[in-house]
Amino acid sequence: MKHHRRYRWFLLSLALIILLSPLLYWSTGIGQAAAGLSAETSRLPDGTLLSSPKAEALRNLSLPMRLQRMLIYPLLLLAFQFSGGAVALRSWLEHIKTHRNSGELKGTPFLSSHKFPQVPFLKIPWLDLLIIFFFVLLFNLALSLLYLPFNFYRSFTVGHQFGLSTLTALGWFGDWAKSLLINLSLDGLTWTGLYGLMRWLPRRWPLPAGVVLVLFTGVMVLLEPVLITPLFYQVRPLEDAQLRARILALADRAHMQVDSVEVIDASSKTTQVNAYFTGFGGAQRIVLYDTLLRDYTPDQIEVVLAHEMGHWYYQHVLLSIVGIGAAGWLGLFALQWLLHRTWRWLGLRGPADIAGLPFVLAVFTLVSYLALPFETGISRFAERQADHFALAASQKPQAMVELFEQFAVQNLSLVDPPAWEKLIFYTHPSLAERIRMAEGWEASQ
Ligand SMILES: [Zn+2]
Repeated sequence: MKHHRRYRWFLLSLALIILLSPLLYWSTGIGQAAAGLSAETSRLPDGTLLSSPKAEALRNLSLPMRLQRMLIYPLLLLAFQFSGGAVALRSWLEHIKTHRNSGELKGTPFLSSHKFPQVPFLKIPWLDLLIIFFFVLLFNLALSLLYLPFNFYRSFTVGHQFGLSTLTALGWFGDWAKSLLINLSLDGLTWTGLYGLMRWLPRRWPLPAGVVLVLFTGVMVLLEPVLITPLFYQVRPLEDAQLRARILALADRAHMQVDSVEVIDASSKTTQVNAYFTGFGGAQRIVLYDTLLRDYTPDQIEVVLAHEMGHWYYQHVLLSIVGIGAAGWLGLFALQWLLHRTWRWLGLRGPADIAGLPFVLAVFTLVSYLALPFETGISRFAERQADHFALAASQKPQAMVELFEQFAVQNLSLVDPPAWEKLIFYTHPSLAERIRMAEGWEASQ
């Protein structure tokens, strides 16, 4: 195809922009000036809480980075697809495999799969699955390396400029390498499984793939706290007897059984504070950052615990798995429809050609942008539910107001972001809304 050359230049330019963009953000001087800014919030005469200058600066630096990534990432994928890069990578992998495994077949790579043993029952040659796996591996590795300077700047450099990161450079790279290994193996397995299914059941694959997707998501939610979190943090049970007694009292009032509260040593990486709830069935747990235990009063910590219990009470994690499963299932049928109509146009051998992966990922990314306002809207709704639960269970609106005010200082959060930003990006209501909610609840009692 003639237009390949044009896309090759486009791909190269995008890659250069991604590699050099840290220089652009550096040249704004926002990060370098951050240390001199105050992290303290202030109040208008009418009592309205205002974000700190440091939080404003952080947002002015990180929002363009976020938008840049959202814009350039799918373009990069499309450019890789339409420049012929994806097909070239697949052909290259086939060639190496043939070359290594049977010298006499060199030069006729497409015949090789017939000589290779097949996966029993599935009737797909092992070699084909290996090629898919290595395609995903190399492709993801290249993307991660391309984004490495950008991610290092965004997370490490900016994190230190704003006093949020406590990691050494070595520690940061250690975490990066661990995440990379985990993502490469999970992505490799997921896509090999999906493309294997497409080859095995060309017509009906979305049905079993949807079942596998739901099971896989559920299993990952259960395994993550046991297998993955301990790779990044030291996890220990909450030992503080006084806090444990408070949790039992809270749980008693809500008629719940809350027996698993864990603490992670987040202070080894960040000065920020957080807590979350995860799991379902018999494996539910609340996880607290040690920064929360270190810097907050028992009343404030109780409010956080009560909020996480709200997620537990309403089964938000289980519901989100169901939601992801339903959306994903529809998405798989849409993917089948799309691939059947586009594979010839994309220059692929068939719908199940792994060389179409960048196109699939680009479409998936663009669709997920359209879904963002719905997704974050549902999340904000769930967070409001958990806040209401926390107020009702703890009866401590004043502690909740102070908690959110301290969050604004410690996490450098914007108190009252613009409406469009909330609509698209905010998984939680803004701190201003959460404070108003607590004050309103107090007034109504
Ligand atoms: Zn929450």
